[in-house]
Amino acid sequence: MSTHPTASSRTGTGLRVAVVGGSLTGPTAALLLQHAGFDDVTLYEAAPASAPLGGGLIGLEHSSLDILDQLGVPQDEFVRYDSETVMDITVRGRRPESEHRHLYAGRNTTWTLLHAALTRRLPAGTLHTGHRVTGMTGEPRRPLLHFADGDTAQADLVVFADGRASTGRRLLDPHRQLRYAGYVAHRGQTSSTQPGLQDFLRFEPSRSGMQFNVAPIPGGVDWTFYLGATAAQYSDFFGAPPTRRVFALPQHVTDTARAAVDTSAQQYLPDEQAALVHATGTRMAAAVMDIDPPTRMVWPVGAGHAVLLGDALAPVRPHTARGANNGIEQAAGLTAALTQHRKYGANLTAALDGWQHRHLPAAVAAVQLGPELGHKFGLDA
Ligand SMILES: Cc1cc2nc3c(=O)[nH]c(=O)nc-3n(C[C@H](O)[C@H](O)[C@H](O)COP(=O)(O)OP(=O)(O)OC[C@H]3O[C@@H](n4cnc5c(N)ncnc54)[C@H](O)[C@@H]3O)c2cc1C
Repeated sequence: MSTHPTASSRTGTGLRVAVVGGSLTGPTAALLLQHAGFDDVTLYEAAPASAPLGGGLIGLEHSSLDILDQLGVPQDEFVRYDSETVMDITVRGRRPESEHRHLYAGRNTTWTLLHAALTRRLPAGTLHTGHRVTGMTGEPRRPLLHFADGDTAQADLVVFADGRASTGRRLLDPHRQLRYAGYVAHRGQTSSTQPGLQDFLRFEPSRSGMQFNVAPIPGGVDWTFYLGATAAQYSDFFGAPPTRRVFALPQHVTDTARAAVDTSAQQYLPDEQAALVHATGTRMAAAVMDIDPPTRMVWPVGAGHAVLLGDALAPVRPHTARGANNGIEQAAGLTAALTQHRKYGANLTAALDGWQHRHLPAAVAAVQLGPELGHKFGLDA
C-alpha cells in the first residue's frame, strides 16, 4: 500500500486538487486548472490504460466549444463534420413522410475524438489510470481519497467527475439515486460511410415510443435507436438491470438485444436505415435514467472541500444534449472561482458557493428537461 504525497509538499499555488474521472469532464477540469496556473492537479481514472475505450456522437454548444478553444484545443481536431443542420424526418409506413430542417447552435464531435484531444494535452504524470476511488474520509484533516487497491491520496479539493454511477455522489449526496426511465438508447457504429450523409438526421416513426438518430463520424456512421424496454427486458438484453449496468459495452450486448433492435428497425424504419442497423457490428447501449435534481454542488470535507460536476452531479437524458456541455461549463466556472481564490485571495468557501449559485440552475433545468422531451417524443409512453 502506498500513500500519494500529502498537502505538506504543496507547491506555490497552494491548492492540491484531485480530479476523479478521466472521461470528458474530468480531463477538461484538469486542463483548465493547469492552464490557469494550478500546478498540483492529479486525475484519477478507474479504467486501466489498456481498457478499450469508445463512445458515440456528442453535440457541443458554442459555450463549450469556446471553452475548448480558449484551452488551445482547435475545433478541427475534434469536429470532423462541421454541418450545423438537423433534419427531423417523420416516417409513416416505413417511408419518410415530411422533413423539417433546423440549425443546431453548436457542432458534433464524438466521445472518442474529444477524449483523445483532451487527454493528449495532459502533462505527463497528471493522469493515473487504474485508480478506482472507493471512499473518502476527512475529519479533521483534508479530504483523503481511498482507492480499491488500498492506496490513498490527500487533496484540498476533490472534484468528482466520475459519471452517472458516481462514487462521489454516493458518498456526498446518497439520497439522489438513479431511476430507470423505461427506455434504452441503443447505439451502433459502422465502419463504412454512408455516401452523401453530412447532417444529423432524426427519424420519428409515426408509431410513438421510438426515435432513430444518425450522423456521420470519421470512417463510418453513428446511430442511436431509442426503444422502450422493461427493466427485466434490459437485464435479458445486457446481462444486468439498468441501475447496475447503466452503460452496456459491446461485450454486454447479447444476441437477444441485437435481434430485438433489428426487428424494430425492420418494422418501423425506412429500408436504408433498417439495413444500416442490420449491418452494424459494434453495438452499445445506455439505459435512459432519471434522478432528482441536485440541490447543491459543494460539500465541506474536513478542512477541505469536495464538488460534483458533469454526469456525477446531474446525469441527464441524452435528448437534452446537455450532459457533456454542463460538465465543460461547470469545469470552466469552477476554474474561474478557484482562480479568484488563488490570485486575489478570495475566500475559498465563498468562491465555491458563488460557483454553485451560478451553475446549479442550469443543471436542474437539464434534469427537468429530460422527462419533458421524452414525453414529447412519446418515449416514456
Ligand atoms: C446516446 C447519448 C447521446 C448523448 N448526446 C449528448 C450530446 O449531444 N451533448 C452532450 O452534451 N451530452 C450528450 N450525452 C451525454 C454525455 O455523453 C455525458 O454527459 C458525458 O459523457 C459525461 O461525461 P463525464 O466525464 O461527466 O462522465 P462519464 O463520461 O460517465 O465519465 C466518468 C468517468 O469516471 C470514471 N469513474 C467512474 N467511477 C470512478 C471511480 N470510482 N474512480 C475513478 N474513476 C471513476 C469512469 O471510468 C469514466 O471514465 C449523450 C449521452 C448518450 C448516452
